[in-house]
This record gives sequence, structure tokens and C-alpha cells, in this order.
Amino acid sequence: MSDLTADAVATEHPGASPAGGNPTAPGGGRTVASAVPRSLVDRLAAGVTATAEPSVVETVAPLTGERLAGLPQSTPADVEVAFQLARRAQAAWAALPVRRRAAVLLRFHDLLLKRQDEALDLVQAETGKARLHAFEEVLAVAMAARHYGRAAQGYLKDRRRGGALPVLTHTVEARRPKGVIGHISPWNYPLELCVGDLLPAFVAGNAVVNKPDTQTALTGLWARELLIEAGLPADLWQVVIGDGPVIGPAVVEHADYVSFTGSTRTGREVAQRAAARLVGASLELGGKNAMLVLSDADVDAAAAGAVRACFSSAGQLCISIERLLVHRSVADRFLERFVSRTRALRLGGGLAYGADMGSLVSARQLDTTARHVEEAVKAGATVLTGGRARPDLGPYFYEPTVLDGVTPEMAVCGEETFGPVVSVYRFDTEEEAVSAANSTPYGLNSSVWTRDLRRGRAVAARLRTGTVNVNEAYAAAYGSVAAPMGGMGDSGLGRRHGADGILRFTEAQTIATQRLMPIAPSFGLDDEQFAAVLTGGLRALKALRFK
Ligand code: NAD
Repeated sequence: MSDLTADAVATEHPGASPAGGNPTAPGGGRTVASAVPRSLVDRLAAGVTATAEPSVVETVAPLTGERLAGLPQSTPADVEVAFQLARRAQAAWAALPVRRRAAVLLRFHDLLLKRQDEALDLVQAETGKARLHAFEEVLAVAMAARHYGRAAQGYLKDRRRGGALPVLTHTVEARRPKGVIGHISPWNYPLELCVGDLLPAFVAGNAVVNKPDTQTALTGLWARELLIEAGLPADLWQVVIGDGPVIGPAVVEHADYVSFTGSTRTGREVAQRAAARLVGASLELGGKNAMLVLSDADVDAAAAGAVRACFSSAGQLCISIERLLVHRSVADRFLERFVSRTRALRLGGGLAYGADMGSLVSARQLDTTARHVEEAVKAGATVLTGGRARPDLGPYFYEPTVLDGVTPEMAVCGEETFGPVVSVYRFDTEEEAVSAANSTPYGLNSSVWTRDLRRGRAVAARLRTGTVNVNEAYAAAYGSVAAPMGGMGDSGLGRRHGADGILRFTEAQTIATQRLMPIAPSFGLDDEQFAAVLTGGLRALKALRFK
């Protein structure tokens, strides 16, 4: 078992980062116990809605396997209390002008950037990811805070719409908050998928009852404290934690809208429960994302991009790439560069910048990763690099792995691994590549590499995924917070970011005011005359190009 003070260890050789980044020597010098002391855990745990004497579940720091925190577990009765408290706080919050609510997000933005080291320590301690990958969460949350802080008024303002009868009907579309959002989030991006997704819900006037994964609850609790410091009323964000299959359904049971991020299997269950109650749900689910390297790609850039695409957060990223589709004419050149960059990745567990990849989060993730690779190898796949666990670095480290010769009957071909494993496939025509990329029930993210940007966008338009990145792995589309992000097919329903990302937390309300005459026979017209007048009116409206 490694010590957290240990430097990052290159799988092959150290030096400049193969992902194209930080060339400095990795290091740390701080332990999880010093970065996340008992006093901090106790303070944050007090933010959980749980009965006076709750049962306590212990979490483990994935980097070392040492005990991290004891966290109080909520009961279904606590969930009910959380909804009552949230509901009470929501009415006053919704009555504030949007500008006042947006100001909280903008203050939060500044506080987060200032105190990002605290967030980075917690994310690393709870997930085991490299600091650079933890920083991506800070980046994503800050971008969402700025965007919704600045744009919420525009998204939420009343809009004049064409009335039933021009001049006579004055019609406005308004947006009302849903009420209390039930938000269920996974462990892999505990800052972004918790607070990042909640910012638009809050600014739209909602309260939230949030069930984070127990493993990563501290990060969300820390973000909650920071948002309260920025001006959010404390009761507006309730946190409940506990066993997913018990506490998750209790949250869905009381919510006015459900926002869920997690696996497709759980997402289906959540959707069914929400549907039975006739409440809406957005579902951000799994993927089996493909990257296409076209014949005219800049092979060096694509190789560096593929490293980011496949191994960020050790592949435990819903939008990371698990299938590399490479044009046969550039496959050898691409693979030589990609494999050598992958081999040079520095694995490490220091609470500092420098390592290129950290640990997996748990024994479960390690088992799935190892099983996918072992089964594939037994069935004839070749390991181009990686393919083994690294218990010398920490209990859940696994080397970044590139597989060749993967065939459809292997689990790694079609199932989401959610680990640092990518399979390489060669293609001859663009048609073949597009059809291979689309040959999965998932449809989350994809990436296309070409020197011809117009061609890249044309190929992108044919891919059945909610986001497509041209000449980038995932950060270009995910970071475009003004545009929607989410999945097609088994990858989900609904979108975060942009207009969709905030309007999902609202109900549309149409207020139409009728003036001067009713929409019914009047002024002495009988029914037939009224119908004739309106028929003429309809013809005139079309001729005048009314919409
Ligand atoms: P998971 O579905 O096991 O758990 C997600 C959350 O749901 C956790 O908080 C869990 O406790 C809770 N939960 C478990 N059972 C539940 C139930 N019956 N009812 C309600 N809630 C329940 O997923 P995971 O393993 O934590 O996360 C990894 C998965 O999430 C991967 O498939 C990944 O692709 C996906 N993911 C998707 C996105 C996206 O934006 N599309 C982002 C991150 C992760």
C-alpha cells in the first residue's frame, strides 16, 4: 500500500506529461489525514439531515486504503424531514428577484476559485483521482456558476408570445420553479455532478434535497458550506446520505422533479418511479464513447488528445473514450505515438499536481476493469500497454491499458468499463467508422479528429451522441456551458447546461389576457356567422404570415 506522501511513479519513464501538460516533478508531502482532518469531517457531517443517533458508515481513501471518514446515514424518515425543511425555505427564496439569486452564484464563483485547494484535497481524498483531474471539476463548476450567474435572468424572464387573436389576446410565457428538486449524484465527479448541476436549480428558485454517493459526500457538503457562505439560505440545500436502493427511492418519492446522474440500470429505475408519480426527471447516464481518427488527422495531436480522452480520472468519466476508431492508413503511426504516450503516464497518489493519472475509486471499479481486460485477453485480444493492477502504488491503481483485437463477444467491446481501458479498431471508410461509432445503444459523447474542420463537423452531425468534440476529447463540448450536454438513447434523457439545463427545473406557465371581445359568438353574431368571421380571420392571418 503506498503512502500518500509518495511521489507519483511513472509506469515507464518520467518527463514531460504525455497528455501534453505539466512537466514538473510530481510530489505531495501531505497525507489524507492531514488534508482532511477529523475536525473537518465532523463539521461537514453536521450538514447531513440525519436523526440524533444515526448509524455511521465508514469511507476509505482510495489512494491508500486508509480510513477517511465516518458519515451519518439518513433514514427514509429523515428524507421526509429534509423535504419539509427544503419546502419551507423554498417559498421565500423563490420570491426574491432572479438577480438576487444570481448574485449568490457569482459570489460562489469567486469563493470557489479562491479556496479551490480545499476542494481539490477533498476530491482527491474521496475519489483517488489525480489533482489535474480534480481541477477539471473546479473549472466546470466555476464555468457553470458564471454562466448561470450572468444568464439566468435572460433564461427565466417572461416572454411575450403571439396571442390566440392578434391585439385582442395578450400572452406571456413565464417560468415558475418546480419546487423541491430531488438530486441523486454518483461518486465520480463529486463537485461538478453535485453543486455544478444544482446551481441552475437554485437560481431558478428551487430548493434541493440531494443524495450524493456516500463515498464522496464530503465534497458536496463542503460545496454546500461555500454556497451558504455566498448567501444561499442554509435550509435550501438538504443533504441526505445512505444506501442507494433505500434512500434514492425515498428522494424520488417526495421530489417535484428528479435530476439523476449515474448508471443506466439505476436510471431506468429512477425514471419508472418518477413516471409513476407523474414528475419529470432528467437522467445523465452511462456511455461507450468513440473517438474517430480520420485519415487526415494530425496524428500527434490526436494521440495526445486520446490520452486525455481515455485516462482522465482513470477513465471513470462518463464522457471518456473507450473505443478508438482509427483510419487504417494512419493506424500504425497513431498507435505508436498513443501507446508510447500512454506508457509514459505517471501514476501517482500525491495531494499535489504532477501525476497524470490517479487511482480507481473502489475494489468494485478495479474488479470490473480487471475482468474486462482478463476476459478479452483470454478470448484473443492483445494488450498493447498496461493490463495490470498496481497494488504497489495503492489498493485500486490500474495501469492505463490499450487493447487491440477486441471482438464483439468480449464484454469490453460493448459494455461500459468505467476504467482506464480503451480498445482500438481500424476502419477503411468514413461510412464504416460512423456506423461502428453508432453501433451501441448508448449515445453520450464522441470525438472526431481531422485537419478539415468542415469535414469534422459533417461527420459529427452523423454521430448519434448528445455531444461531439472535433479535435478535442470531451472538454470542448462539456466546457461550452451555454450549450446543452447530455445523452441520446441509453445515455439518458434531458440535458444539463444552456437553456435546457435551467428550464428543466421550471414549469412553463402561460398567462393569456383577453381584451375587448371574448373568443365566442358576440356582438350579435350567431354561431354560424361567428365561424365564418373566424374562418376569414384565419385565412387572413396565414396570408399575412402570422406564426
Ligand atoms: P449508480 O447508478 O450505481 O449510482 C448513482 C447514484 O444513485 C448513487 O448516489 C447511488 O447511491 C444512487 N442509487 C443507487 N441505487 C438507487 C436506486 N435504486 N434508486 C435511486 N438511487 C439509487 O452509478 P455509479 O456507479 O455511482 O456511477 C457511475 C455511472 O454513472 C456510470 O455508468 C457513468 O457513466 C454514469 N455517469 C453519467 C454521467 C453523465 O453525465 N451522463 C456523469 C457521471 C457518471
